Amino acid sequence: MTRVLVLNSGSSSVKYRLFDGSATVAKGLVERIGEAGGEVADHRAALQGIMAEVDLSGLAAVGHRVVHGGTEFTSPTVIDDDVVARVEALVPLAPLHNPAALTGIEVARKLLPDVPQVAVFDTAFHATIPPEGVTWAISRELAERWQIRRYGFHGTSHAYVSRRTAEVLGRDPGQTNVITLHLGNGASACAVEGGRSVATSMGMSPLPGLVMGTRSGDIDPTVIFHLHRVAGLPIDEIENSLTRHSGLQGMAGVNDLRLLLEKRAAGDPDAKLAFDVYCRRIREYVGSYLAVLGRVDAITFTAGVGEHSAVVRAAALSGLEPLGIAVDPSRNERHDEVVSPPGARIPVCVIPTDEELEIADQSRTALSLPR
Ligand code: ADP
Repeated sequence: MTRVLVLNSGSSSVKYRLFDGSATVAKGLVERIGEAGGEVADHRAALQGIMAEVDLSGLAAVGHRVVHGGTEFTSPTVIDDDVVARVEALVPLAPLHNPAALTGIEVARKLLPDVPQVAVFDTAFHATIPPEGVTWAISRELAERWQIRRYGFHGTSHAYVSRRTAEVLGRDPGQTNVITLHLGNGASACAVEGGRSVATSMGMSPLPGLVMGTRSGDIDPTVIFHLHRVAGLPIDEIENSLTRHSGLQGMAGVNDLRLLLEKRAAGDPDAKLAFDVYCRRIREYVGSYLAVLGRVDAITFTAGVGEHSAVVRAAALSGLEPLGIAVDPSRNERHDEVVSPPGARIPVCVIPTDEELEIADQSRTALSLPR
């Protein structure tokens, strides 16, 4: 079995997990990097700390999560200087996300010079979406010049849970169509046709689509013009508001769904509305992707909310019984792998995601290593 270290570097945190085959032998999180009173001064110190704590002997690869791969990176890619330069060139497309991954890559390459490193992109799984699913109806010239199109994110999660869904249902993943709903702090929906992404709800950035903890999801772009022109807000402030102070946080003052449910249970009208908006948006995307796919073999919930909130699953799919979509209350409460009633036309599944395991597997595949 081969050992792979998976690194997920954020701007102020590094999450790591060491795999031996598919078993986790060590994992952890270094937080508040570089902040006053934080654990360590910078990413280099964070990684040195991890290396001091974890036995990395026999390490066969390091797999890095990289958020944005643009149109260039459509599969896991072995990292060399040229790849680093190309990921750097993508920073204008992902200014909030890619710089941290680049820092992680740079430090890991220096500290582990003999270990091959692989970049696994959140966008890559969506490279199979056909042109009409990634093109917005704006000027071709502007779109091409500024690389404006849908890229989509959470790809490793959608790939993993759609494949697992087929396995759980005893089907061939290559012949199975799944609507996957990744509902974490970030949230996105994906239509997967025979193992390939054909539609997803996030766009050029992770901002559009479903309602999230602090991100707005879909809005009319006029909101931005209006806030700028009429309300006089600078563009950075609008971006900050839509990404960090919107979603559940913006509507109800809490970004954690558990707290939202508590406020809702206590009769808070804002929390009730926020919950309804959140669930209705999911239902709208399910309807849209039923139409995109035509035949749907399963609907799968994953990530923090999707795996743990029976009430969201039930509310999001309520009223869809005429389409053969329903949840069985006791299965749903138990978070069974299949939560739809026996014999349902379209099974509804709950599949825990595992992005790190998928990154480890994809890293081994890129290097032709055995599992
Ligand atoms: P991330 O996107 O940061 O990886 P997660 O996938 O862990 O986040 O999802 C975080 C979200 O999951 C939070 O909104 C949290 O409230 C929600 N969540 C976690 N556990 C539960 C639970 N038992 N019931 C409802 N929501 C939950």
